[in-house]
Amino acid sequence: MAAVAEPASPPAVRDIDIHADPAGALPVYRWRQAPKGLATRRQLRERRLRPGGQDPVAVIECRGGKRKAWLYEIAKAKPIRPMTFAKEIALDKAMAKRQTCPKCSRRYYHCLPLRTLGSCLECHDGTPAAPGSYMRPPGEQLAAAA
Ligand SMILES: [Zn+2]
Repeated sequence: MAAVAEPASPPAVRDIDIHADPAGALPVYRWRQAPKGLATRRQLRERRLRPGGQDPVAVIECRGGKRKAWLYEIAKAKPIRPMTFAKEIALDKAMAKRQTCPKCSRRYYHCLPLRTLGSCLECHDGTPAAPGSYMRPPGEQLAAAA
């Protein structure tokens, strides 16, 4: 018995958003053309809000379409979670890794070029580090790290 081929029915007519682009994606707005009530992630952050799991509802194009950003509904945004002590410790640990020279174990206030040089400038080529640019003198270890 021959298998009955599925009839190739055309897709049902869908609602058409005149603002949507032909790809059927989200509506795209130009710089300053986005409707009120929408904000980018960064703009939400300025209001101490976060998207909170909602999907972006539109796209905004900046610099002539070279840069794009998702737009979220401000009404559906949630307040950002306050920094907890545990989060602060985790963040400090991650930053310590990027700011501490593995050769002299100074911890600097800036991130070090560890991927390229693998150490601070002073260890790399002898450029003296400004005394105010690091918080831990060479060789000194944190008690917690021991
Ligand atoms: Zn160093």
